Parts: sequence; structure tokens; C-alpha cells
Amino acid sequence: AELWQNVPLAPPDSIFQLTAAYKADTFKDKVNLGVGAYRDNDNKPWVLPVVKRATAILLNDETLDHEYLPILGLPEYTAAAAKLILGADSAAIQEARAVSAQTISGTGANHLGALFLSRFYNWNGPPKVYISNPTWANHFAIFRNVGIEPVEYAYYDPKTIGLDFTGFIAALEAAPERSVFLLHACAHNPTGVDPTEEQWKAIAQVIGAKKHYTFFDCAYQGFASGDLDKDAWAVRYFVDQGLPLLVCQSFAKNAGLYGERVGALHVVSTNSETANRVKSQLSVLQRSEISNPPSHGARLVSLILNNAELFEEWRRDIRTMAERIIQMRHELYRLLTQELHTPGNWDHIINQIGMFSFTGIKPSQSQALVEVAHVYLTANGRISMAGLNTHNVEYFARQLDAVVR
Ligand code: PLP
Repeated sequence: AELWQNVPLAPPDSIFQLTAAYKADTFKDKVNLGVGAYRDNDNKPWVLPVVKRATAILLNDETLDHEYLPILGLPEYTAAAAKLILGADSAAIQEARAVSAQTISGTGANHLGALFLSRFYNWNGPPKVYISNPTWANHFAIFRNVGIEPVEYAYYDPKTIGLDFTGFIAALEAAPERSVFLLHACAHNPTGVDPTEEQWKAIAQVIGAKKHYTFFDCAYQGFASGDLDKDAWAVRYFVDQGLPLLVCQSFAKNAGLYGERVGALHVVSTNSETANRVKSQLSVLQRSEISNPPSHGARLVSLILNNAELFEEWRRDIRTMAERIIQMRHELYRLLTQELHTPGNWDHIINQIGMFSFTGIKPSQSQALVEVAHVYLTANGRISMAGLNTHNVEYFARQLDAVVR
């Protein structure tokens, strides 16, 4: 018998499949609104100017070698990354309560965080993680891989194409004490629907009262509003409230370093002694999985974060990306509401935030966009705003108008 005859054929990853279908399409006005990667106004991947500068500096640095990094990563990178998300003046950093590990981008941070919880969290029953309905599809697999069962909590309300705040709070209250809740720090994927600051405060209050643990996933800092600090608001607020938490951080989107796999996991504890023990175990786990994280991307980001001039340039680059996306939201909204008078309410297009927008259209309408209009998007009606530009937004608006009529 053939050795692997019992291995079932897995379906291809739907997002990467969508990209393949887009690439194979020869229609000249085709539009790709599937994958979550930034594109410039000519639909080209964008190497951030600051990344080009940092790369040139690294290339000319004769002191660099190809030795292993420490197990938990490049220290000047992880320290600067912690300041970026927690705030430069964070009490958690000053009190040495935050420990950081360099990870294989945000995915690796989610994995290491989940693995750490699977081993050491004081579970109240069988290991479960509460994830928003909907969420980034990979969350399911990442947690299941380490024996933690994902359970969905109410998040998105299809009726308002906004936040189901009441349902969310009810889920926090109904969960047993010390449950683990995964929250998107900003620019929720796939909906683009974030709580307001007032809503975050109420969420934090229930989380504190129920002694829940917060697993923040932060893949889009700076990408949502264009402002790194504003997009870190919820994380910092939770830390200020003394809530126990960890944060998964990615530089894929905000530095355009998708392929470099540069991320970090930050675990915030109540005191430095606990933090030290947590750090020692993160080190053991990391050693068995990847031994040492890769150096190039971490060196690039470290340069950018630790050099005032490069940091300012990076902030400008982030604004360039965020503002282009926000402009596209406004242009799409204008076309639908003022030019085409498309039936329905489209306020969510400008109220949602970040790379993605949940259009609220039905799966059959998404399918028609793909099959008839050569507009590629996921069946749930999510569009990547980064795929829109001044050349194709009108075409897209007209096609969208046609399928909802
Ligand atoms: N978390 C969320 C919510 C995401 O949307 C993504 C990327 O799409 C990630 C994590 C991780 O991305 P990466 O591993 O490329 O940093």
C-alpha cells in the first residue's frame, strides 16, 4: 500500500486561490480586492522609502555578520517594538513587567502566544479561546494546533454592518471567569469594524470584573488611522487598567515587510519577577520551534524604530498608505451615494477602518462580482481597500451597484 494513501486532500487556501484566479484572468479591467497587502495608486506593491533607506544602511554596515540572533531575538528590536505598541513611557516597560520575543511575523506571535497559554495558562475547564465572529480565518487553525478550542463571540452585526456591542458585552459576561478573549487591537480583520474608545472602556471593565485574559492581535498599528499611537490606544488603555494580557505584533503591513516575517510577542505581567519566569519559558518554547528568529527584518525595523530621522520618515510613509486608503473609502462612498444612487446605506464604507471593509453584500453578489465583473473578493463580501485606486474605483462602484440592484 502507498504510504500516504490515508492523507486526505486539503482544500487550497481560499485567499491565495483567489489571487491565482485573478492572475489567470486576462480581462484588462480586472480588480483584485482579495489579499490584504497594500498597493499604491498604480496597483503595485510599495516598498516604503524608509525601508529602502534602512536597507542601504544595512548593506553598507561592515560590522554585520550572519551569526545567530539570541533566542528571543534582537534585543534592540524587541525593546523598541515594545515601546511602539505599549508606549514609550509605559509603566509596564519601566517596571520590567513586559517581556518580548521576536517572532515569525504576526502569525508566529499568535502561535507562540497560543502555545505559551496552552502550556501555562490557569485554565478554568478545557482550554478555549473566545474569538470574534468573524475573525481572521487563521486564528482557528493556530489555536487548534496547540489544543485550544476556538469559540466564537458575537462581534459583527449584519443588520447595521457595524459592531454588535450588546452581543459582545453579553458574551464577555456569559463566559466563565478567567476566559481567554482574543481582541483585534485595531482595524478588525475582516470587518473593519472597531469599538469606539467608550466601548473599549466598557469592554475593559467587564474583562476586569470577570478576570478574563486578553489576547490582543495587533497586525495593523498605524494602518487604521495613520497614527501609530491612536491605533495602540486600546492596548495601552488595557495595560493602564492593570489587565493581564499579551500582544501579538506584526510589521508586515505597517512597514510593508510582508515577506521578511518580522513580528513580536509581548506578554505583560503584574510584576518583574513573574515576567522573568514567563520570559524563561518563552525562550524554551521558541528554542524548540525555531531556535533563533531571522535577523534581516528585525535589523531593518530596529534601525527605523531607533533612529529619530528614520522613525519620522516611517510615520510619513504610514500616513501615505493610510490616507490613500481613507481617500478610496471616501471616493467609493461618493460614487455609490451621490453618482450612482446605489440602493441601501453605505455609511459603513467610511466608518470602517483599516485595510478591509465589509461591504455587507450577499455571497451570491460576491460571486457575481467575481464571475461576471472580474472583481475578485472573498465570498463574505470583504474587500481590501488597498486594491482600489483612482483608475479602478469607478469601475468597481459601477459593478457593485449593478449586483445590488
Ligand atoms: N492577525 C491578523 C488579524 C491579520 O490580519 C494578519 C494578517 O493578515 C496577521 C495576524 C498576521 O500576519 P503576518 O503573519 O503576515 O504578520
